[in-house]
Amino acid sequence: MKQELKQMLAELTAITGLAGQEQQVVKHLLELLSPLADQIEVDGFGNISAVKRGNRPGPRLMITAHSDEIGAMVKSVESNGFVRFHKVGGTLDPLLLGRKVLVSGHIGIIGVKAGHMQTPLERTRVVASDNLYIDLGVDSAEAVAALGVKVGDPIVYVAELATLGGNSDRVFGKAVDDRIGCAVLVKLLASLQGVEFAGEVHAVITVQEEVGLRGATVAAYRVNPDLAIALDTVPAGDTPDINTNKELPIHIGRGPVIQVLSGGGPRGFLLNPCVKQFMVAMAEQAQVPYQLAVFSGGNTDASAMHLVRDGILSAALTMPRRYSHSPVEMLDLNDAVHALQLLRQICLNLPAIAELSFI
Ligand SMILES: [Zn+2]
Repeated sequence: MKQELKQMLAELTAITGLAGQEQQVVKHLLELLSPLADQIEVDGFGNISAVKRGNRPGPRLMITAHSDEIGAMVKSVESNGFVRFHKVGGTLDPLLLGRKVLVSGHIGIIGVKAGHMQTPLERTRVVASDNLYIDLGVDSAEAVAALGVKVGDPIVYVAELATLGGNSDRVFGKAVDDRIGCAVLVKLLASLQGVEFAGEVHAVITVQEEVGLRGATVAAYRVNPDLAIALDTVPAGDTPDINTNKELPIHIGRGPVIQVLSGGGPRGFLLNPCVKQFMVAMAEQAQVPYQLAVFSGGNTDASAMHLVRDGILSAALTMPRRYSHSPVEMLDLNDAVHALQLLRQICLNLPAIAELSFI
């Protein structure tokens, strides 16, 4: 399974799917999910909903993974052919300099002021994205237009999925967040073929998560599940630049994370204790390692879904990944395998969802 997930992740991360322009990823996932679903549709927003029905009636479970990735879009073109851009999602300024990018399918590079020309201060300073530019190898705005590049076109990192030298289970690249969730969802539906269970599993590939959980908001309303689980990634706190226990006690390779708290304020999520107990029981039944975590630094689709209609019971199951929102997002494939096993256990025990309530 690890190898299969790795291969599918490589396939999915190779596709461009900037938030709001996920068409290519959606098309690809539609092809992968269609043969596995009893019913499948893409809503007007771009969310895929693939339904797998059990052989007996029962509760409806919705599991989301988002298809979009962070990046930027073309903002303007200088007369000499350099492209200015606007960031989309949580793209980080310090990581942009000198990077290889894809602009509307054309390879470009984010330019760097010649080292020889930089002042001592410039050498230690982060350049804001507004002051950066992309070189497409042409010398005029007309030549950029001739390539078909227009304002609003997507820009993403070029960063093929690769394996780390010391551990073949650890892979890195761009858009691992959340193409790994998409890959796990495909494998989950595949694992339910010909299996008897009660209830319905709605595997939903959402759009526009990175810009404010927008796709999940409309998809949750439409599906109206008894339980919604956001399957996503979460930053790992086990690198030398983070005080792990004090700041973020999440480790790569120690199992998927059941998030007890995500974000904060109006855009936050607190896990219902009954749902927490259910998720933990399922992990223990499936004999998979898991981590309970409090992570105030970000959200998942669960933060949107639990506020839909009269409050949908929700959970966030996330896979730790180092170097979030970079072109080298790193994941331990064992965490993905364990997330898959845990979700399968839940799918085979859907009637238990009917017992969940606030008190
Ligand atoms: Zn994500």
